[in-house]
Amino acid sequence: MDLLNRVKDAGVIGAGGAGFPTHAKLAAKAEYILLNGAECEPLLRVDQQLMAEFSEEIIKGLEAAGQYIEARKAVIGIKGKHKAIVKLLREKITALGLEDYMEVMELRDIYPAGDEQVLVYELTKRVVPEASIPLKVGCVVINSETALNIFNALSGKPVTETYLTLAGDIPNRLTVKVPVGMPIRELLRQCGLENGDDYAVIDGGPMMGSLLDGIDGYVTKKSKGFILLKKDHFLIRKKSVNINQGRVISKTACEQCRMCTDLCPRYLLGHDMQPHKVMRALSYDLKDLKELQIAQLCCECNACELFSCPANLHPKTVNIFYKQKLAEQGIRYQPTQVEFQPRSAREYRLIPSKRLVAKIGLTLFDKPAPLTTIQFKPEYLEIGLRQHIGAPSQPIVNLGQHVEAGQMIGKIPENSLGAPVHASMAGTVVEIKDNSIVVKVG
Ligand code: SF4
Ligand code: SF4
Repeated sequence: MDLLNRVKDAGVIGAGGAGFPTHAKLAAKAEYILLNGAECEPLLRVDQQLMAEFSEEIIKGLEAAGQYIEARKAVIGIKGKHKAIVKLLREKITALGLEDYMEVMELRDIYPAGDEQVLVYELTKRVVPEASIPLKVGCVVINSETALNIFNALSGKPVTETYLTLAGDIPNRLTVKVPVGMPIRELLRQCGLENGDDYAVIDGGPMMGSLLDGIDGYVTKKSKGFILLKKDHFLIRKKSVNINQGRVISKTACEQCRMCTDLCPRYLLGHDMQPHKVMRALSYDLKDLKELQIAQLCCECNACELFSCPANLHPKTVNIFYKQKLAEQGIRYQPTQVEFQPRSAREYRLIPSKRLVAKIGLTLFDKPAPLTTIQFKPEYLEIGLRQHIGAPSQPIVNLGQHVEAGQMIGKIPENSLGAPVHASMAGTVVEIKDNSIVVKVG
């Protein structure tokens, strides 16, 4: 079986957040394969520790994927502040005889260094065109944990676990390997947090993660971390605002200072993403579709909403509002040019991570979250059928059936983009829901 089919069978998806099926990403030829090890979300500590702990496996996974897509060069992007890991990776690359093929490049400590398009520019000086993907400029980007999962897939090991950081206003911050499907409530309890309900929980990083409704959900292959904060923390108040509220608040108070635009990472790459124009269209109820369509260029990094706007408004939320409206009408942004150059002011307008952490009230919690081994013992696992971009997996097990750890329980529907799902522990299928399969462990 070739690499693509092994990766497909193992259910590997982008572990960096979006969950795009990796076999679909690798079904192309590209000049560069880039490893996204930027981990620019404050407080998350997964990628940096995986690159230290599993450097050889990650390098081999990246190399195998790079050779498969016939990339002439593989580049690992990691923040230069992780000096020891940078050194370790370079030593391993040399020890494996890969120094002519692979290099480590040090990224600046800025937000969002891990945005795929920012990363491509920082590592190759190529700008991904508006509304396009890195492949357009000869690059395929995979995340560090994805490279590790590719390595595992080559020896037949499916994705049944994910690494995530528990951080925020809690006594013990830590990073752990968790079985996919683990109930979040149990995860918190087995990590020593009996009072999980007392916190507001962000699923993912503090910038792009969304506020959970409660802790009754379960871990997916995409889970990267849970940030626990007091319910009156600035970030929680801000993330509690829904699209309609954000729209109404923004409509009344935008002063058109254009700070949101001037610091927008996509605008700085030369794209036409100008959130202040979208805000203007909202405030004055403008119907100019061109002004509204630029909302589709937003990567939802949240920099404008949580860092740039002096009036504490919601430009990203307004972008999402218009994105939804445009999608309903079937309108897609059409770029007006093919090649893009970063704006000349970009170098002076990058957002330093330390400033960002201070601005969003996380300096006190910006601490290590060491990789810790915990033998999780959930009673039940709820394994999502839609953990990825594309069609949900189709159950291939029956009620009452015993499943082994690593057994495929949901397959990709015929002729669809998707990823299979596997049981992360042995047990019995006790419920098959629309979006998940529940396994009683044991
Ligand atoms: S930064 Fe805030 S106030 Fe200024 S233009 Fe943007 S949304 Fe309006
Ligand atoms: S969230 Fe704001 S800063 Fe980020 S890309 Fe969208 S408009 Fe730009």
